[in-house]
Amino acid sequence: MAIKLIPIENGWMSCETGIMCEGGQGRSTFPVSCWVIEHEKGTVLFDSGFHPELLSDLNRIGAAATLFDIDIPAGQNLKKLLADQGIDCSAIDYLVMSHLHFDHCGGTVQIPNARIIVQKEEWEAGNDSKWIDAGVYNPADFDLGHNIQKIEGQHDIFGDGTVVCIPTPGHTAGHQSLRVELGSGPVVLTSDCAYWQEMLDELLVPPHGFDRERQKESMKTLKSMRDLGCKLIFGHDAEQWKSFDNKSLL
Ligand SMILES: [Zn+2]
Repeated sequence: MAIKLIPIENGWMSCETGIMCEGGQGRSTFPVSCWVIEHEKGTVLFDSGFHPELLSDLNRIGAAATLFDIDIPAGQNLKKLLADQGIDCSAIDYLVMSHLHFDHCGGTVQIPNARIIVQKEEWEAGNDSKWIDAGVYNPADFDLGHNIQKIEGQHDIFGDGTVVCIPTPGHTAGHQSLRVELGSGPVVLTSDCAYWQEMLDELLVPPHGFDRERQKESMKTLKSMRDLGCKLIFGHDAEQWKSFDNKSLL
């Protein structure tokens, strides 16, 4: 069975560009997304997007609510978005977390039966009171009693090389990307290691990342994968996102 990669649009955010990208001017609007990977041995969700309560309660993201405008269509949530694609949220086997920021793991509450696959370093950071108090992480988004598989380094989910977690730390302590082998060639879901293409091309990082030099090293890893023929799908690239148009990639 061919592997299917299905884009899910959780909503859009906007903010001053300088928050996202060093030296950025003006304002940026960008998608918040997650991805379903259908493999013959199981269904993977890469990130889970917004928490369903964000529609009615911006307070749950603390100070971030003052920086970002969040646009989620009324009545929308991850469970419904998956159902629209014919996917039962209770049938997701694995939830791979790129990292634990609110726009990447908020929908976890609607994925009840998945095993969460996360880098050990990210899980520990997400549960560190120093970062929780600073508003970087909210364990109410992700620490919900799931079976947690804490990994260290690369991890081949199905053991056949088709869906592989690739550590790309720097944006956060244990950030990871996901490589998927499609019939059309390899794809890497970069998540927030690179928000959009120009940032990767120019090695531009956010001004307030966890470790900016480490992130640049991870970005160089992504660039070398691209040089070898991997298609990169960026974490918050509005232009690229519009080209997917809710169609699955094969
Ligand atoms: Zn992030």
